[in-house]
Amino acid sequence: RKVGFAIVGLGKYAQEQMMPAFKESKHAKITALVSGSPEKMQQLAKQYSVDAKSCYSYQNFDSIKDNPAVDVVYIVLPPGLHAEYVVRAAQAGKHVLTEKPMATSVADCQRMIDACRKAGKQLMVAYRAQYEPFNLDAIARIKNGELGKLRYVTSDHGRQVEPSKDKADEWRVVKKLAGGGSLMDIGIYSLNAARYLTGEEPVEVMAMESTDRTDPRFKEVEDQIHFTLRFPSGVLATCTSAYSIETVKRLRAFGEKAYLDLDPATDYYKHNMTIGTAEGEMKPAVKEGNQFAAELDHMAECVLQNKTPKTPGEEGLRDIKLIMALYESAKKGKPVKV
Ligand code: NAD
Repeated sequence: RKVGFAIVGLGKYAQEQMMPAFKESKHAKITALVSGSPEKMQQLAKQYSVDAKSCYSYQNFDSIKDNPAVDVVYIVLPPGLHAEYVVRAAQAGKHVLTEKPMATSVADCQRMIDACRKAGKQLMVAYRAQYEPFNLDAIARIKNGELGKLRYVTSDHGRQVEPSKDKADEWRVVKKLAGGGSLMDIGIYSLNAARYLTGEEPVEVMAMESTDRTDPRFKEVEDQIHFTLRFPSGVLATCTSAYSIETVKRLRAFGEKAYLDLDPATDYYKHNMTIGTAEGEMKPAVKEGNQFAAELDHMAECVLQNKTPKTPGEEGLRDIKLIMALYESAKKGKPVKV
C-alpha cells in the first residue's frame, strides 16, 4: 500500500518541489492538506485529488487523529512553527516528517523527539541531500578511500535573501520564525555535509560573523557566518554561509591522493562532480535522481517497516546544537568545545 501524507503549510517549497515529487514516489501519496488559506487549499485539493473532508485549518488540525488515510504529517512551515506542529501531529498519533532546520532551539528539538517517542511514532528531518545520488556517491567514494586519507572539507552556501521580492523570504529575516539568518537556512547544508562526508561528529567549532546592520534585511538575523569544525580524526571543515551574495551551493573534500568537488552540490535538480588527482580531472558518470521522491519513499518505508529513519530527530538536534555553539563562538570571538 501507499503511505498517506498530510502536507502542513502550502508555501513555495511544498508547492514547487515536494508536492509534484509525490508523482515520482513509489510508496507515498498525498491524502490531506493543512493550510490557513481555504482558497489555495481548495485549488490544490482539486489538483492533487484530495478529499474535501481531508482539508484542515491550523485550528482544526488536531482532528486529523480521526483520519485513517493519514499516516505521516509533513511539516513545511517556517522553522519557528515546526515544534508546535510536530508535537500536535505526534499527539494525533501520526508519524512526522519535518523540514530543516528542525527547530529554532535545542529545547524545541528535544520536545519534538520526546513527543514522537512517547507516541511511538517515527520522526524524520527532511535532509534531502542525504537522499540525493551525487552526495551519496561522494560519501561512498570517501568511505572507499578513493581520495586517500581525508584531510579537510570546504563547503559554501549562499544567495541573496530578498524579502521585498519573494514572499517565501519574508519569514527568513524574522528571528522568531527563522531562528537565525543564513546559517539556520542554508549554512546548515554546509554543516550537515561536513558531518556526512566525514562520518564524524565535531569536537570543537569556531565562527566569525559579518553583518551590515544598516541593511534593512539584517535587522534581526545574520548575513555571513564563516565557520570551522574540528573532527576527532584531525579532519577540519571550513564552511561559509551568506545571504548577500550570488547563489553558491558547493563542497569539496580534500584527500591525500585526490579531491572531490560537487558544484552544485545541493541544487534541486542539477549536480556536478569532479575528481582531481595528479593526473588531472575527471567527471564520474553519476546519474541524476529525484531526491525529493527518494526522501518521501524513505519516510514511507520507515512507516511500513517500522524502521528508524536515516535522518531521525536526533540528526536534526545535532545540527541545531552545533549551530547554537557556532553562534556562541561568533559572539564570544573564540572556539567552543562541543
Ligand atoms: P514559504 O513561506 O513559501 O512557506 C511557508 C508556509 O507556511 C506558507 O504557506 C505560509 O502561509 C505558511 N504559514 C503558516 N503560518 C505562518 C506564519 N505564522 N508565518 C509565516 N508563514 C506561515 O517558505 P518555504 O520556502 O516554502 O519554506 C517552508 C519550510 O521548508 C521551511 O522550514 C524551510 O526551511 C523549508 N525549506 C526546505 C527546503 C529544502 O531544500 N529542504 C527548501 C526550501 C524551504
